[in-house]
Amino acid sequence: MDQLPNFQDLKVSQSSQAFSRQTMGSLDHLLIVLPEKPHARLFRKLPQGTQLERMFKRSKIVGSGVVTSRLNNQRDTGIVLSTYTEKSTFQRLTWARKLVAECLKNSPGTLGISTIGLNEEERQRVIVAIVAAAEAAAFKLPEFKSAEKSRSRSLKQLKILSAQPRIDLNEVNATSLGNNVARWFTALPPNELNAKTYRHMAEQLAKKYGIRSEFFDEHKLKKLGAGAFLAVSQGNPSRDAGILRLSYRPKKQAKPDLALVGKGILFDTGGTNLKPFKSMLDMHKDMQGSAVALGTLIALSKLQVTYAVDAWLAITENRISGTAYKSQDVVRAVNGMTIQVIHTDAEGRMVLADTLALAAREKPGLIIDYATLTGSCVVALTERYSGAFSNREELAAQVTLSGTESGERIWSFPMDEDYDEDLLSSVADVKQCSATGYGDHILAARFLSKFVPDSIPWVHLDLSAGQHKGGLAHIPSDLTGFGVRLTVDLLRRNQVGL
Ligand SMILES: [Zn+2]
Repeated sequence: MDQLPNFQDLKVSQSSQAFSRQTMGSLDHLLIVLPEKPHARLFRKLPQGTQLERMFKRSKIVGSGVVTSRLNNQRDTGIVLSTYTEKSTFQRLTWARKLVAECLKNSPGTLGISTIGLNEEERQRVIVAIVAAAEAAAFKLPEFKSAEKSRSRSLKQLKILSAQPRIDLNEVNATSLGNNVARWFTALPPNELNAKTYRHMAEQLAKKYGIRSEFFDEHKLKKLGAGAFLAVSQGNPSRDAGILRLSYRPKKQAKPDLALVGKGILFDTGGTNLKPFKSMLDMHKDMQGSAVALGTLIALSKLQVTYAVDAWLAITENRISGTAYKSQDVVRAVNGMTIQVIHTDAEGRMVLADTLALAAREKPGLIIDYATLTGSCVVALTERYSGAFSNREELAAQVTLSGTESGERIWSFPMDEDYDEDLLSSVADVKQCSATGYGDHILAARFLSKFVPDSIPWVHLDLSAGQHKGGLAHIPSDLTGFGVRLTVDLLRRNQVGL
């Protein structure tokens, strides 16, 4: 796979035209969202209103919130009817995912949405949620099945009916694009996505958005003294690993205002401390953090934000081999810190250590890193929330708020200094992790903090919600691409010193 897909091929249009029988006849499927208790008069405003009212009443008898049927027209337009009551963002997105899934059951090419009867605020929120869900559902993740025909037809057009006033869809479009990027790269099989192809495709995508790239290969990293990254990459059979820096510069400035850092472990065997089969099975997804950093960068450039952004992707495998690193190795990172290796499966924090230190050298105003870092974060939160850690308490609170507002839910964990006692080493400056594994997500964050100077505000996201069986919020796939939407929300609130 060397060909990038069109990451956003759903056409979304807003039509101010009155909703007519003719409009209905031009659609394969129609989604009508009504207020909780729609007045009979409302149905009279709708074409084929009598049929719709009958459907609605029947749904009340059946008792489910959603009713599906076909319109009595030439096209046999499919119809889904639902009512809306105010919900949290997460609940609204989940509701939107289920509605869109219901609409897509018969693989329509065109889908219309009507929100007649909702007040303006509700209408905005409902449409944005449905657009987000439809943009995620319409995008096909990589598939390698031989019979092309067996692939279902995908949704091509989404028409928002009676769209007056028009709704600003820029942010939801950009976020969906970034999320699709993150999910697509993460879904690629590990023999397709190796260090070489990942770098190549990420550079190609970046170029499309006018983003510059620079690659720090092993040779360059050796010169810089990135011993923590190299400890992990030294077990690879080929010498393609490295750190990819992508730079978005809206104005002529050299320095970044914001740095996004991502863990890009292409396949994690655990290394010398090998993982058992079930734990290793899905380990090609261990690069999702870097894909989220990349997707977020693409979303921000699509939004044409006025600040400069760097994304740093730490790309390598973690292999078992004769040259792989071992417990009790002592290595030195870019910032001079020495690390006592404890467990080779804690490779994420090793590659992030050097990547964070390199990003920090550029003195950005804020660093955010993304990583599927620890099993203990999943144990603590399940795969429904992701964990956040910050060296600024107020920043952790803002990220938590953005989690609620964006529907990508966040729980923040302690960062107290006394946790460092568990990382004290008798031979090096710091231990990579503790041998007991208690609170490993917290210790991992404490470890990473050694590579970010206190002067730089920093957020570490442990992506326990990076995958969730059956989807999460508006995302229908097991892979969620969690983080793009959260970050765009956080940055829009502009409370992060940019
Ligand atoms: Zn690992």
